[in-house]
Amino acid sequence: MPQVFTEFRKKLEWNRDFPVRQDIKHTIPTKLYQMGWVNWELDSCIELESKFKDYVENRGSISLEIKAKISKGYLEFKGGEKEAWNRLQEYFWDKNLLRIYKETRNGMIGWDYSSKFSPWLANGCISPVTVYNEILRYEEERESNDSTYWMKFELLWREFFRWILRRHGKKVFNYSGIRRQTPNGLEQNWEKFELWRNGETGNDFVDANMRELLYIGFMSNRGRQNVASYLVHRLNVDWRLGAEWFESQLIDYDVSSNWGNWNYLAGVGNDPRNRIFNMEKQAQDYDPNEEYRKLWI
Ligand SMILES: Cc1cc2nc3c(=O)[nH]c(=O)nc-3n(C[C@H](O)[C@H](O)[C@H](O)COP(=O)(O)OP(=O)(O)OC[C@H]3O[C@@H](n4cnc5c(N)ncnc54)[C@H](O)[C@@H]3O)c2cc1C
Repeated sequence: MPQVFTEFRKKLEWNRDFPVRQDIKHTIPTKLYQMGWVNWELDSCIELESKFKDYVENRGSISLEIKAKISKGYLEFKGGEKEAWNRLQEYFWDKNLLRIYKETRNGMIGWDYSSKFSPWLANGCISPVTVYNEILRYEEERESNDSTYWMKFELLWREFFRWILRRHGKKVFNYSGIRRQTPNGLEQNWEKFELWRNGETGNDFVDANMRELLYIGFMSNRGRQNVASYLVHRLNVDWRLGAEWFESQLIDYDVSSNWGNWNYLAGVGNDPRNRIFNMEKQAQDYDPNEEYRKLWI
């Protein structure tokens, strides 16, 4: 297992000994078997469900206005395998958005700038193997271009972090990460952390992203990179607080992808590249008309 993504990618792309397997065609089970050792108590399940509902409804004391915005269907994810397939059908085939993924993937508003597969992937509603094979089918039946390649490239990142977790185990959760390099000057400053998590830092680009996360449990990849960089490199807060906040909020939370990306952003992963973003420039480049910021603030 190479330490650096590029080596990992090249090893896979150039070596025919690592084929991605076919989908396993399975039939829908007609019966669910009860596991003898699980003590299912209906009451506690119901209690848990109502607690969860309570929590979701009161999430971060969301104002009525925001609730109205969310209930209009803005990124309203529906769970389950069927919904995952519906999204794939829509994104790849009906709207033909895979064709332009590379140009749109850094967007921040709405359904169509990226696939939104992550919540289904993270919860096991669809397999990355299935998505991969559908990309191959698309390349054969429609077209193969930079965008179809890029979607495979992103799935490889997901794969990479899974293997990194396998290789390094619990080190990904350590302050010094998998690199064993103690970051300089980061502290567990709860005041700064509170401002960050509630979207009240005063930097409107960061705040808009953090509010989106707080209100709906999702954030674009562009946003995630920026707010993580801001927490660590501008506010000098221990990166693990950020990773734990993401863990508690993201509907696509995935152990390897979350902690792997945070290691990376905090400079304790294995990539020498600098992950310090210029927030003003990022806001200018990715939200030039302040449309995104106005949506959430
Ligand atoms: C600090 C930080 C934390 C993150 N935490 C998570 C997490 O908990 N769960 C999660 O699924 N992703 C995480 N990501 C990765 C990425 O932001 C999301 O996968 C992506 O935004 C999901 O949207 P999408 O499905 O539309 O992605 P698309 O752009 O359509 O990409 C397709 C798929 O590729 C994979 N992918 C894309 N980018 C990455 C990446 N950088 N790392 C790993 N896989 C990637 C995802 O499975 C994604 O669904 C994190 C990124 C950062 C910077």
